[in-house]
Amino acid sequence: MLKQHTTLHIGGPAKFFVNVRNTKELISVLEIVRKYKLPFLVIGAGSNLLISDEGFAGVIVKLRDEFRELKLIQEKKIYAGAGVMLAMLIKFAVDNSLSGLEELFGIPGTVGGAIMMNAGTKNSTISDNLEFIEVLSISNPQYGVIKLYKEEINFGYRRSGLENFVILSSVFNLREGNKEELQKRITEVLLTRAKTQPLGTFNAGCIFKNPENHKYTAAMLIDKCNLKGFQCGDAYVSTQHANFIINKNNATSKDFVKIIKHIISVVKKKYKVKLEPEIKLVNIKL
Ligand SMILES: Cc1cc2nc3c(=O)[nH]c(=O)nc-3n(C[C@H](O)[C@H](O)[C@H](O)COP(=O)(O)OP(=O)(O)OC[C@H]3O[C@@H](n4cnc5c(N)ncnc54)[C@H](O)[C@@H]3O)c2cc1C
Repeated sequence: MLKQHTTLHIGGPAKFFVNVRNTKELISVLEIVRKYKLPFLVIGAGSNLLISDEGFAGVIVKLRDEFRELKLIQEKKIYAGAGVMLAMLIKFAVDNSLSGLEELFGIPGTVGGAIMMNAGTKNSTISDNLEFIEVLSISNPQYGVIKLYKEEINFGYRRSGLENFVILSSVFNLREGNKEELQKRITEVLLTRAKTQPLGTFNAGCIFKNPENHKYTAAMLIDKCNLKGFQCGDAYVSTQHANFIINKNNATSKDFVKIIKHIISVVKKKYKVKLEPEIKLVNIKL
């Protein structure tokens, strides 16, 4: 069941679930996907996914082994496979007295997922210090590994435009920093998160993007509509952070869809703003 692969703990069965160990195996899988015209999805740590209770009638791929390589390749450059956990990358950078990624500490997930989502905070995003990535085209795996420099990627607010690719690896160009100060900073960043977010629950972080050019964040809009605590089935809007929806234990994707639709409609009526989901919906239409 895919629920075992998401932080929300929601998601039905996948028709095929493949752990790929290296690029060669991934190319073989993509060739089969192309030949049989199968739906395809690569997942990281599932920390930004709402997957349908019906599951996924195609191939789900998870990147293992070769994709978890993490190394210093030059004095200030780090190579990270797409399957490396973001926290590991940041700790590795700090251990090597390299600065640039510390504001992202505490964002769950893999490096590949973070690049796809251009994950970040109000202070920085994963793409800020990225030099290049290596990818495979999902529809044309026969082209082999393609190198894309940051300037060639259409990064924006929580988007990368990389939907047609599997991200294989990344190289970050960082600045020299003071190890003790960097360690202090990542602890501060983590403590702030612990104060403001319902950590230790089944959630997927912020459900909605912040509306552009608006004085209120999505969380503020939801809070101002008195929706904190709003519940459907076993899911409810966090009372701590209004942009988080929590699965108490046995929530279904349908419970989440009901809450998401309700929030969109109430906020639209009161503030004339249409909130857009930040989380990726898999086999779900709103
Ligand atoms: C408690 C909590 C706090 C969070 N805080 C933040 C935050 O502050 N800022 C923020 O931006 N996000 C935040 N998130 C959301 C989430 O952690 C990020 O979006 C994260 O980068 C997703 O990484 P993942 O590996 O879990 O990706 P997944 O959720 O597995 O996948 C997300 C998307 O990336 C794609 N993807 C994954 N790996 C690859 C790959 N190798 N190649 C191509 N596509 C790929 C998937 O197909 C999917 O479309 C939070 C989530 C939680 C649970």
